[in-house]
Amino acid sequence: MKTHQRSKELYERAVKVIPGGVNSPVRAFRAVGGDPIFIHRGEGAYLYDVDGNRYLDCVGSWGPLILGHAHPDILSAISAQLPNGTTFGAPTELEVLFAEELCEAVPSLEKVRLVSSGTEATMSAIRAARGYTGRDIIVKFEGCYHGHADFLLAKAGSGVATLGLPECAGVPAAVTANTLTLPYNDIEALHATFREYGFSIAGVIVEPVAGNMGCVPPISGFLEALREVTQRYGALLLFDEVMTGFRLAYGGAQERFGILPDLTMLGKIAGGGLPLGAFGGRAEIMDVIAPVGPVYQAGTLSGNPVAVAAGLATVQTLKKQRHVLYERLDRIGGKLADAFRYAAEEAGVTVVVNQIGSMITVFFTDLPAVNNYAQAKTSNTQRFARWFRTLLEEGIYWPPSQFESAFLSDAMSDEDVYQLIETARAGFYKARE
Ligand code: PLP
Repeated sequence: MKTHQRSKELYERAVKVIPGGVNSPVRAFRAVGGDPIFIHRGEGAYLYDVDGNRYLDCVGSWGPLILGHAHPDILSAISAQLPNGTTFGAPTELEVLFAEELCEAVPSLEKVRLVSSGTEATMSAIRAARGYTGRDIIVKFEGCYHGHADFLLAKAGSGVATLGLPECAGVPAAVTANTLTLPYNDIEALHATFREYGFSIAGVIVEPVAGNMGCVPPISGFLEALREVTQRYGALLLFDEVMTGFRLAYGGAQERFGILPDLTMLGKIAGGGLPLGAFGGRAEIMDVIAPVGPVYQAGTLSGNPVAVAAGLATVQTLKKQRHVLYERLDRIGGKLADAFRYAAEEAGVTVVVNQIGSMITVFFTDLPAVNNYAQAKTSNTQRFARWFRTLLEEGIYWPPSQFESAFLSDAMSDEDVYQLIETARAGFYKARE
């Protein structure tokens, strides 16, 4: 049995001074029982908690750490910047280099603006889409999460799904009045909505592979339908690639699926583990943003040199390794998915394993497939919690929620993957109890 004495003590102190003891809701273990583990440090594929326990990290800080913890190239880029100062509120050469790299990497980007989080990226991109089209309505999909801006919290995934919140208190109905929410992967509903509201729709925002209701890839034809219908009605297509950017391919989901959006949002991996987000797209759209155009968007720490140094080093490392790295992650992900399906069947537990590249979720459901939020919600979260707790006890840090994707990293060895399979196998027997 692992001891979690120090984590427990810290948690008791934390809940007195921080709501729920955590600074972001899914870090609490509400959905799986027990108290959160407090982390001391990370190295490569592993996390070490304050009690000295080691875990294979399948969360990767919820996506950013595709290269693992404390990657030497990223640490040295950060260290090189630090003596020069941490923020200037004025342009730097690093920002130019980084913007050039992003525009070269992500197929649809011609111009990009840096911000400090994924939430800011989506919020600002939607303001740009509304400013550019002169329209108000935004279409989003149930179970997709685009950060915590008020008007995007309608039927959101991630922590909203994990905690089972019907809607978010504190968001006036008027604020979400221009947000239409449709089932993910429902091409019929998409066409019906466009027939009714098409010429008032500013844009459709989508996770091209959803990760915030668990991993749910697009069905064949869904992204194509989004592209076609938005174009037909003069609305913009916004790919929220905060999770999928630099994860599903070097150029993100848009490279992997060959569909180019009008605007793209980035965060997580693009920031190399520091607070950074970005949004960009065609130059004529991006030029609606101040100081060129009338759409105001700003940030004291936007383009922060330390965050940009980390992001640039990450993107450059991925660029060098991309021909090997993404194929390897696809192979590991595929192997895990097959092994999980087999082990669950052996244990007599029905599951649906959704996986694409290094994103993977095991849904404990009796359904034959999970293609949308309603289907994801049929999962037996008690079973998931028992599976999760077996993994944690055996040294695997899996996302503490049925409705979050796990993220694999290139720092994981074949031995780590083997250990994960063996532990998951034991977990399926426990889940059944
Ligand atoms: N968009 C997606 C797809 C996300 O997964 C997230 C965070 O999980 C966000 C936006 C918000 O990013 P941040 O938490 O950096 O504000």
